[in-house]
Amino acid sequence: MPKSPTAYHRPDTLDSALQLLNQPDTFALGGGTKLLAHDVPGAVVDLQKLALNQITWNGDTLSIGAALTLTELADALAAQAAADSPAPLLQQAIQQAGPNTYRNAATVGGSIASRLPDSELLAVLLVLDATLTLYTPQQQTLPLADYLAAAERPFGLITGITLSWHTGQGKSERVARTPADYPIVSVTLWQPQQGNAALAATGIAQRPLRLHTAETHLHQGHIEQAAATAQTAVTHPGDFRGDTAYRTEMVAVLVKRVCK
Ligand SMILES: Cc1cc2nc3c(=O)[nH]c(=O)nc-3n(C[C@H](O)[C@H](O)[C@H](O)COP(=O)(O)OP(=O)(O)OC[C@H]3O[C@@H](n4cnc5c(N)ncnc54)[C@H](O)[C@@H]3O)c2cc1C
Repeated sequence: MPKSPTAYHRPDTLDSALQLLNQPDTFALGGGTKLLAHDVPGAVVDLQKLALNQITWNGDTLSIGAALTLTELADALAAQAAADSPAPLLQQAIQQAGPNTYRNAATVGGSIASRLPDSELLAVLLVLDATLTLYTPQQQTLPLADYLAAAERPFGLITGITLSWHTGQGKSERVARTPADYPIVSVTLWQPQQGNAALAATGIAQRPLRLHTAETHLHQGHIEQAAATAQTAVTHPGDFRGDTAYRTEMVAVLVKRVCK
Protein backbone atom coordinates (compact mmCIF):
# COMPACT_ATOMS: atom_id res chain seq x y z
CA MET A 1 0.00 0.00 0.00
CA PRO A 2 1.61 3.36 -1.02
CA LYS A 3 2.32 5.67 1.89
CA SER A 4 1.46 9.38 1.97
CA PRO A 5 4.17 11.90 2.83
CA THR A 6 3.49 14.28 5.71
CA ALA A 7 4.61 17.23 3.55
CA TYR A 8 5.70 17.78 -0.06
CA HIS A 9 8.41 20.24 -1.12
CA ARG A 10 9.62 21.07 -4.60
CA PRO A 11 12.65 23.39 -4.27
CA ASP A 12 14.39 24.89 -7.28
CA THR A 13 17.92 25.23 -5.88
CA LEU A 14 20.27 22.65 -4.45
CA ASP A 15 20.86 24.79 -1.37
CA SER A 16 17.17 24.97 -0.52
CA ALA A 17 16.81 21.24 -1.18
CA LEU A 18 19.63 20.46 1.22
CA GLN A 19 18.24 22.82 3.86
CA LEU A 20 14.96 20.93 3.70
CA LEU A 21 16.74 17.56 3.77
CA ASN A 22 18.54 18.57 6.95
CA GLN A 23 15.18 18.59 8.74
CA PRO A 24 14.32 15.41 10.66
CA ASP A 25 12.27 12.76 8.84
CA THR A 26 12.67 14.46 5.47
CA PHE A 27 13.68 12.43 2.42
CA ALA A 28 14.83 13.07 -1.14
CA LEU A 29 12.14 12.02 -3.62
CA GLY A 30 13.39 10.57 -6.91
CA GLY A 31 10.79 8.46 -8.69
CA GLY A 32 9.22 7.41 -5.40
CA THR A 33 9.06 3.73 -6.40
CA LYS A 34 10.75 2.69 -3.19
CA LEU A 35 10.27 5.73 -0.95
CA LEU A 36 6.51 6.01 -1.40
CA ALA A 37 5.95 2.26 -1.59
CA HIS A 38 7.92 1.33 1.54
CA ASP A 39 9.64 4.12 3.45
CA VAL A 40 7.58 7.30 4.06
CA PRO A 41 6.02 8.70 6.48
CA GLY A 42 7.98 11.84 6.64
CA ALA A 43 8.26 14.86 4.39
CA VAL A 44 9.56 14.49 0.84
CA VAL A 45 11.74 16.83 -1.20
CA ASP A 46 11.03 16.37 -4.90
CA LEU A 47 14.20 16.70 -7.02
CA GLN A 48 12.45 17.40 -10.33
CA LYS A 49 13.09 21.17 -10.46
CA LEU A 50 16.81 20.93 -9.74
CA ALA A 51 17.89 20.39 -13.38
CA LEU A 52 19.51 17.06 -12.53
CA ASN A 53 18.29 15.26 -15.64
CA GLN A 54 21.03 15.92 -18.19
CA ILE A 55 23.17 13.28 -19.84
CA THR A 56 26.47 14.24 -21.49
CA TRP A 57 29.29 12.34 -23.18
CA ASN A 58 32.64 14.03 -22.78
CA GLY A 59 35.44 12.08 -24.43
CA ASP A 60 35.86 8.89 -22.46
CA THR A 61 33.36 9.72 -19.71
CA LEU A 62 29.58 9.76 -19.49
CA SER A 63 27.88 12.03 -16.95
CA ILE A 64 24.34 11.22 -15.90
CA GLY A 65 22.14 13.54 -13.83
CA ALA A 66 20.74 11.82 -10.74
CA ALA A 67 17.11 12.68 -11.53
CA LEU A 68 17.20 11.05 -14.98
CA THR A 69 14.71 8.21 -15.07
CA LEU A 70 15.78 4.73 -16.15
CA THR A 71 13.66 5.09 -19.30
CA GLU A 72 15.28 8.44 -20.17
CA LEU A 73 18.71 6.88 -19.69
CA ALA A 74 17.81 3.90 -21.91
CA ASP A 75 16.47 6.23 -24.62
CA ALA A 76 19.60 8.39 -24.56
CA LEU A 77 21.80 5.29 -24.81
CA ALA A 78 19.79 3.93 -27.73
CA ALA A 79 20.10 7.22 -29.62
CA GLN A 80 23.80 7.84 -29.15
CA ALA A 81 25.82 4.84 -28.16
CA ALA A 82 27.68 2.25 -30.23
CA ALA A 83 27.35 -1.53 -29.92
CA ASP A 84 30.96 -1.89 -28.76
CA SER A 85 30.39 0.65 -25.98
CA PRO A 86 29.06 -0.05 -22.46
CA ALA A 87 25.56 0.92 -23.71
CA PRO A 88 24.19 -2.61 -24.38
CA LEU A 89 25.21 -3.75 -20.90
CA LEU A 90 23.53 -0.74 -19.29
CA GLN A 91 20.42 -1.17 -21.43
CA GLN A 92 20.11 -4.83 -20.44
CA ALA A 93 20.38 -3.95 -16.73
CA ILE A 94 17.75 -1.22 -17.10
CA GLN A 95 15.43 -3.58 -18.97
CA GLN A 96 15.77 -6.17 -16.21
CA ALA A 97 15.25 -3.66 -13.38
CA GLY A 98 11.47 -3.84 -13.59
CA PRO A 99 8.42 -3.20 -15.77
CA ASN A 100 8.22 -0.02 -17.87
CA THR A 101 5.82 1.64 -15.40
CA TYR A 102 8.59 1.32 -12.83
CA ARG A 103 11.39 2.34 -15.25
CA ASN A 104 9.41 5.44 -16.27
CA ALA A 105 9.48 6.67 -12.67
CA ALA A 106 12.59 5.26 -10.98
CA THR A 107 15.62 7.54 -11.20
CA VAL A 108 19.29 6.73 -11.47
CA GLY A 109 20.02 8.57 -8.19
CA GLY A 110 17.20 6.80 -6.35
CA SER A 111 18.41 3.43 -7.61
CA ILE A 112 21.89 4.14 -6.29
CA ALA A 113 20.73 5.58 -2.97
CA SER A 114 18.53 2.51 -2.40
CA ARG A 115 21.71 0.37 -2.35
CA LEU A 116 19.69 -2.78 -3.00
CA PRO A 117 21.61 -6.08 -2.88
CA ASP A 118 20.04 -7.45 -6.08
CA SER A 119 20.51 -4.49 -8.40
CA GLU A 120 22.20 -5.51 -11.66
CA LEU A 121 22.23 -1.84 -12.63
CA LEU A 122 24.52 -1.17 -9.67
CA ALA A 123 26.74 -4.08 -10.78
CA VAL A 124 27.06 -2.55 -14.25
CA LEU A 125 27.85 0.87 -12.79
CA LEU A 126 30.51 -0.79 -10.60
CA VAL A 127 32.35 -2.41 -13.52
CA LEU A 128 32.30 0.96 -15.30
CA ASP A 129 34.06 2.56 -12.30
CA ALA A 130 31.17 4.89 -11.52
CA THR A 131 31.86 7.93 -9.38
CA LEU A 132 29.12 9.86 -7.62
CA THR A 133 28.87 13.58 -7.09
CA LEU A 134 27.38 14.26 -3.69
CA TYR A 135 26.12 17.67 -2.64
CA THR A 136 26.66 18.10 1.10
CA PRO A 137 26.61 21.25 0.35
CA GLN A 138 30.22 20.91 -0.72
CA GLN A 139 30.52 19.10 -4.05
CA GLN A 140 32.20 15.82 -3.15
CA THR A 141 33.06 12.91 -5.38
CA LEU A 142 32.95 9.36 -4.10
CA PRO A 143 33.47 6.07 -5.93
CA LEU A 144 30.23 4.11 -6.12
CA ALA A 145 32.10 1.13 -4.63
CA ASP A 146 32.77 3.17 -1.46
CA TYR A 147 29.19 4.44 -1.36
CA LEU A 148 27.95 0.84 -1.43
CA ALA A 149 30.58 -0.52 0.97
CA ALA A 150 29.84 2.03 3.72
CA ALA A 151 27.90 0.55 6.65
CA GLU A 152 25.58 3.58 6.74
CA ARG A 153 24.47 5.35 3.56
CA PRO A 154 26.86 8.32 3.12
CA PHE A 155 25.25 11.70 3.76
CA GLY A 156 24.43 13.97 0.84
CA LEU A 157 22.24 14.44 -2.18
CA ILE A 158 23.48 12.50 -5.21
CA THR A 159 23.49 15.03 -8.05
CA GLY A 160 25.26 13.05 -10.76
CA ILE A 161 27.12 9.91 -11.76
CA THR A 162 30.19 9.72 -13.99
CA LEU A 163 31.20 6.54 -15.81
CA SER A 164 34.26 5.63 -17.81
CA TRP A 165 33.21 5.17 -21.44
CA HIS A 166 35.54 3.10 -23.60
CA THR A 167 35.09 0.56 -26.34
CA GLY A 168 34.86 -3.02 -25.16
CA GLN A 169 32.44 -5.87 -24.54
CA GLY A 170 30.22 -6.57 -21.57
CA LYS A 171 28.29 -9.60 -20.42
CA SER A 172 25.94 -10.24 -17.54
CA GLU A 173 24.59 -13.61 -16.39
CA ARG A 174 22.11 -14.38 -13.64
CA VAL A 175 20.13 -17.09 -11.92
CA ALA A 176 16.58 -16.17 -10.90
CA ARG A 177 13.35 -17.94 -10.01
CA THR A 178 11.69 -16.54 -13.16
CA PRO A 179 13.00 -14.33 -16.00
CA ALA A 180 11.08 -11.34 -14.59
CA ASP A 181 12.21 -11.80 -10.99
CA TYR A 182 15.17 -10.14 -9.24
CA PRO A 183 18.28 -12.26 -9.73
CA ILE A 184 19.28 -14.53 -6.87
CA VAL A 185 22.91 -14.16 -7.95
CA SER A 186 24.27 -12.26 -10.95
CA VAL A 187 27.76 -11.61 -12.32
CA THR A 188 28.68 -8.79 -14.69
CA LEU A 189 31.86 -8.55 -16.76
CA TRP A 190 33.20 -5.52 -18.58
CA GLN A 191 36.18 -6.22 -20.85
CA PRO A 192 37.56 -2.97 -22.28
CA GLN A 193 39.37 -3.23 -25.59
CA GLN A 194 42.44 -1.90 -23.85
CA GLY A 195 43.04 -2.59 -20.20
CA ASN A 196 41.92 -5.11 -17.63
CA ALA A 197 38.55 -6.77 -17.23
CA ALA A 198 36.25 -5.82 -14.34
CA LEU A 199 33.85 -8.18 -12.55
CA ALA A 200 30.97 -7.40 -10.17
CA ALA A 201 28.37 -9.56 -8.48
CA THR A 202 24.99 -9.21 -6.81
CA GLY A 203 23.32 -11.56 -4.36
CA ILE A 204 26.47 -12.71 -2.60
CA ALA A 205 26.85 -9.94 -0.03
CA GLN A 206 24.85 -7.20 1.63
CA ARG A 207 25.24 -5.03 -1.47
CA PRO A 208 26.62 -5.41 -5.02
CA LEU A 209 30.41 -5.48 -5.07
CA ARG A 210 33.47 -5.72 -7.33
CA LEU A 211 35.31 -9.05 -7.34
CA HIS A 212 38.81 -7.56 -7.27
CA THR A 213 40.71 -10.71 -6.30
CA ALA A 214 38.95 -12.76 -8.95
CA GLU A 215 39.80 -10.03 -11.47
CA THR A 216 43.53 -10.47 -10.84
CA HIS A 217 43.26 -14.16 -11.79
CA LEU A 218 41.26 -13.23 -14.85
CA HIS A 219 43.92 -10.74 -15.95
CA GLN A 220 46.35 -13.72 -16.01
CA GLY A 221 43.90 -15.79 -18.04
CA HIS A 222 42.97 -18.14 -15.16
CA ILE A 223 39.20 -18.40 -15.37
CA GLU A 224 38.88 -21.43 -13.07
CA GLN A 225 40.87 -19.67 -10.37
CA ALA A 226 38.86 -16.49 -10.84
CA ALA A 227 35.66 -18.51 -10.33
CA ALA A 228 37.01 -20.25 -7.21
CA THR A 229 38.23 -16.96 -5.77
CA ALA A 230 34.86 -15.28 -6.37
CA GLN A 231 33.40 -17.84 -3.96
CA THR A 232 35.50 -16.46 -1.12
CA ALA A 233 33.67 -13.12 -1.45
CA VAL A 234 30.34 -14.67 -0.44
CA THR A 235 29.05 -13.30 2.89
CA HIS A 236 25.32 -13.46 2.15
CA PRO A 237 23.56 -15.28 5.02
CA GLY A 238 21.08 -16.90 2.63
CA ASP A 239 17.32 -16.50 2.47
CA PHE A 240 14.22 -18.22 1.07
CA ARG A 241 15.46 -17.67 -2.50
CA GLY A 242 18.83 -19.29 -2.01
CA ASP A 243 21.01 -20.36 0.91
CA THR A 244 24.67 -19.45 1.26
CA ALA A 245 25.88 -22.73 -0.27
CA TYR A 246 23.71 -22.22 -3.39
CA ARG A 247 24.89 -18.64 -3.83
CA THR A 248 28.52 -19.75 -3.41
CA GLU A 249 28.09 -22.43 -6.06
CA MET A 250 26.30 -20.07 -8.44
CA VAL A 251 28.80 -17.22 -8.30
CA ALA A 252 31.51 -19.58 -9.60
CA VAL A 253 29.22 -20.90 -12.35
CA LEU A 254 28.33 -17.36 -13.43
CA VAL A 255 31.93 -16.11 -13.42
CA LYS A 256 32.77 -18.95 -15.80
CA ARG A 257 29.76 -18.17 -18.01
CA VAL A 258 30.60 -14.48 -18.41
CA CYS A 259 34.32 -15.14 -18.98
CA LYS A 260 34.08 -17.93 -21.58
C1 LIG B 1 7.69 -2.92 -9.20
C2 LIG B 1 9.04 -2.60 -8.60
C3 LIG B 1 10.14 -3.26 -9.07
C4 LIG B 1 11.39 -2.97 -8.55
N1 LIG B 1 12.44 -3.62 -9.07
C5 LIG B 1 13.68 -3.33 -8.64
C6 LIG B 1 14.81 -3.99 -9.24
O1 LIG B 1 14.68 -4.84 -10.08
N2 LIG B 1 16.04 -3.64 -8.83
C7 LIG B 1 16.20 -2.70 -7.88
O2 LIG B 1 17.34 -2.39 -7.56
N3 LIG B 1 15.16 -2.10 -7.28
C8 LIG B 1 13.91 -2.39 -7.63
N4 LIG B 1 12.84 -1.78 -7.04
C9 LIG B 1 13.09 -0.91 -5.86
C10 LIG B 1 13.20 0.59 -6.14
O3 LIG B 1 12.14 0.95 -6.95
C11 LIG B 1 14.52 0.98 -6.78
O4 LIG B 1 15.53 0.98 -5.83
C12 LIG B 1 14.41 2.33 -7.50
O5 LIG B 1 15.36 2.34 -8.51
C13 LIG B 1 14.44 3.54 -6.66
O6 LIG B 1 14.46 4.70 -7.51
P1 LIG B 1 13.50 5.93 -7.24
O7 LIG B 1 13.99 7.06 -8.06
O8 LIG B 1 12.08 5.55 -7.40
O9 LIG B 1 13.85 6.21 -5.70
P2 LIG B 1 12.90 6.77 -4.57
O10 LIG B 1 11.88 5.74 -4.21
O11 LIG B 1 12.42 8.12 -4.89
O12 LIG B 1 13.98 6.87 -3.39
C14 LIG B 1 14.62 5.71 -2.88
C15 LIG B 1 15.62 6.17 -1.78
O13 LIG B 1 16.66 6.93 -2.37
C16 LIG B 1 16.70 8.25 -1.80
N5 LIG B 1 17.05 9.14 -2.91
C17 LIG B 1 16.37 9.31 -4.08
N6 LIG B 1 17.06 10.12 -4.88
C18 LIG B 1 18.19 10.48 -4.23
C19 LIG B 1 19.30 11.30 -4.55
N7 LIG B 1 19.42 11.93 -5.75
N8 LIG B 1 20.29 11.46 -3.62
C20 LIG B 1 20.21 10.83 -2.43
N9 LIG B 1 19.18 10.04 -2.06
C21 LIG B 1 18.18 9.85 -2.95
C22 LIG B 1 15.31 8.47 -1.22
O14 LIG B 1 15.32 9.44 -0.18
C23 LIG B 1 14.99 7.07 -0.72
O15 LIG B 1 15.64 6.81 0.50
C24 LIG B 1 11.56 -2.02 -7.51
C25 LIG B 1 10.42 -1.38 -7.03
C26 LIG B 1 9.18 -1.66 -7.56
C27 LIG B 1 7.98 -0.94 -7.01
